[in-house]
Amino acid sequence: MLAWVIAALSAFALAWSGFGSQIEQQLQNGREILLQKPASGELVLLEIDAKSLREQNKWPWPRSLYAEAVDRLDAEGAAQIAFDIDFSSQSSAAQDAAFAEALSRANATVILPTFLQDASLGSAAQTESLPIPELRKNALIASVNVHPDGDGQVNNYSFGTKTAGMPRPSLPSMLAESSGHIEHSFLIDQSIDQSTIPRISFGDLLANRPLPIDLSGKRVLIGATAIELGDRYPVRRYGVIPGVVIQALAAETLIQNTAVINLGSIPAVLLAGLILLALMRTFKAKKLTGAVIVAGAGLFILLLALEALHLATFSIVPALFLLGLFLTLRKFFHTSMDLKTSRYFNAVSGLPNEASLKEFVADAEDNPIVVLRIMNFGDALAMSDTQSRSQLYQNLSLRLNFLAAGGKVFHMQADTFAWVVKDDYMYDVEGHCQTAAALFQAPFLSGAKNVKLNAVFGISGSSIDTAKVAADHAAAKGLKWSWHNEETDQAIGLRQSLLVDLDAALQNGDISLVHQPKWDLQKDRLAGSEALVRWEHKEHGRVSPELFIPLLEGAGKIDDITKFVLQHTLDDLAGWDRVKPGLNCSINISAQLLNDSKFVQAAIAMVEASELPNTQITFEVTETATLADPDTAVLALERIRETGIKISIDDYGTGQSTLSYLQRLPADEIKIDQSFIRTMADDNANRILVQSTIQMAHALGLKVVAEGIEDQPTMALLKELQCDIGQGWHIAKPATSADFYAAWVVQGQASGASSAQ
Ligand code: C2E
Ligand code: MG
Ligand code: MG
Repeated sequence: MLAWVIAALSAFALAWSGFGSQIEQQLQNGREILLQKPASGELVLLEIDAKSLREQNKWPWPRSLYAEAVDRLDAEGAAQIAFDIDFSSQSSAAQDAAFAEALSRANATVILPTFLQDASLGSAAQTESLPIPELRKNALIASVNVHPDGDGQVNNYSFGTKTAGMPRPSLPSMLAESSGHIEHSFLIDQSIDQSTIPRISFGDLLANRPLPIDLSGKRVLIGATAIELGDRYPVRRYGVIPGVVIQALAAETLIQNTAVINLGSIPAVLLAGLILLALMRTFKAKKLTGAVIVAGAGLFILLLALEALHLATFSIVPALFLLGLFLTLRKFFHTSMDLKTSRYFNAVSGLPNEASLKEFVADAEDNPIVVLRIMNFGDALAMSDTQSRSQLYQNLSLRLNFLAAGGKVFHMQADTFAWVVKDDYMYDVEGHCQTAAALFQAPFLSGAKNVKLNAVFGISGSSIDTAKVAADHAAAKGLKWSWHNEETDQAIGLRQSLLVDLDAALQNGDISLVHQPKWDLQKDRLAGSEALVRWEHKEHGRVSPELFIPLLEGAGKIDDITKFVLQHTLDDLAGWDRVKPGLNCSINISAQLLNDSKFVQAAIAMVEASELPNTQITFEVTETATLADPDTAVLALERIRETGIKISIDDYGTGQSTLSYLQRLPADEIKIDQSFIRTMADDNANRILVQSTIQMAHALGLKVVAEGIEDQPTMALLKELQCDIGQGWHIAKPATSADFYAAWVVQGQASGASSAQ
């Protein structure tokens, strides 16, 4: 509606100011070309053209020439002879008399011009220039005054003028013998093709040459068209043309009765405004745009029809401007509304976003904010198509709405949601969080699948950001939910400083590796080691790899540390190999590095560059690494394995994969996760699981490593179950490179622990 009001007001302003008249004229010219018609042929122009002037070789012409012309035209049977030539001053008496006589002889009606002009330059008084009295006697008098429009063009002609109290019909209306209100004007019909008005050269008439046109009964208009005689005016369609041609066009308009009423622009603007209102009630969105365009075209066709039927004309530009401006404004308003929507709403879920939460929090009481992070949301979304994804969002919204207890749920980032705790829960926020965690126990329906969403919650009474920090803290600590407090701030501080300090730590020896022996259970001898990274932070002390490895992975900084571990392992192993040949060292490779072909290439090159056979190195990858993007992972593993480097599937049993899935992976061994091994001596189910896993892995041609052996019975049991390799605190805790060398390579220690952890 606002677009309508602005467009309507602007259209009226445009109509009033006359702005856009250029376009209006172009449109009018276009329509006239479409509706173009020939002259009636009733009116003939007798031109004082360049040829006539040349033949007479003087100007002004003696009036005897006009007398001759009148005689000849009369003889040819012309009905009217009109002069657009000034006879207001005396010439020689003989010439004047000759012309006057010719006028009195003529049977045809002769019309002589009169015109008003300023008495002197700048004077307000006007004088009438009538033909001299002896000529007036035998002729009718018609006014030839032109009345240019505001822009200097002569597009209207008057029916007549009043000069010195005397009404005088205009020359065109007298020629057309049509009546009209004196001092009223009519529009010259410029769709009449001016080139079809029959023309005779005055020279041909004087020279008695045969005339191309039969003049009997015709109205002859005599005037100057030669450029040197001046008397030229601009008109809209034809540009600057001789005044006499304008008189002829005006007379033709009246003869053909095609003068139309000019309604101006206001009725069209009103009509367009009303049509628009009706369309706005009927159509919406894109259909409205189409309808408005059709209405504009309809208005144009109406105008064309009115003009073709010689009923009326109107200025269409302000009306079209109204429609066009309405569409533009509407688009603008919609775009800015969309912008506002995109500023305040999440495009995927349609829920209000973080900007919206900020405004909400600014206005709300100081109730705590709960931030929910869904740790595996990316995976859940990646596994679903568009339809099941929107179903997942719906189901999620439903549960969150329950938690927000009718308040708003905000969707901040892809995997992050938030709400403000309602007053009802204010005194038991922790209970509220327990409910929230419980709600996420049940899986969510996403298409045909059920997905388990792994949610953590952060709560803060002070700000959105600290609630996020608390959620991250909960995630890092493996908690379901966490309040924001000093401890969480410290944890965040630690994580940030770890990221910043990594490069320096690699350089200055804060980062190092330890080796944990891998024991060949069947042959009862050392098989090799697993290299594990350690970080002795200057400020924070020893930092667990379980904290900083995921952190570096998340920040995309895991490749440098992995290359560091690989290089040191290769160096250590080269030293050991001279003493005890054939040991195999494992290093851990993060999932995302399998997608990084530059890393894979560099790692292979490092192994190739060492003098050891490639088969003495094992890359451990977790099975979840291969699940996220199996095709890329399989390709990378194949590339690695082709070089002879062994592949081990770490933490086997913690993921979703089955042994038949493993069959498709290019692997040499599986490492059964510690959670099964540590409990298998007491837990019968786990024991059976380990046993069958060993059997099936062997059937698939895979070696089996058991990690997390913490006691002798477990070790004995594994040996009995034909497990190939064992690793665990019972054999030894990880030791520094030097300790490992001394205790395991040189001495060939059988079991017992070295204490470096
Ligand atoms: P992982 O690869 O499964 O490594 C085995 C982890 O189990 C090591 O912990 C090891 O010290 C521990 N462990 C060994 N025997 C026993 C046992 O008998 N009982 C118990 N309770 N634990 C035992 P660590 O060194 O803290 O490493 C933890 C995880 O950090 C590793 O799990 C691995 O996923 C990652 N990690 C360690 N070093 C690196 C590395 O250089 N690169 C990458 N990408 N990840 C690494
Ligand atoms: Mg490992
Ligand atoms: Mg493991």
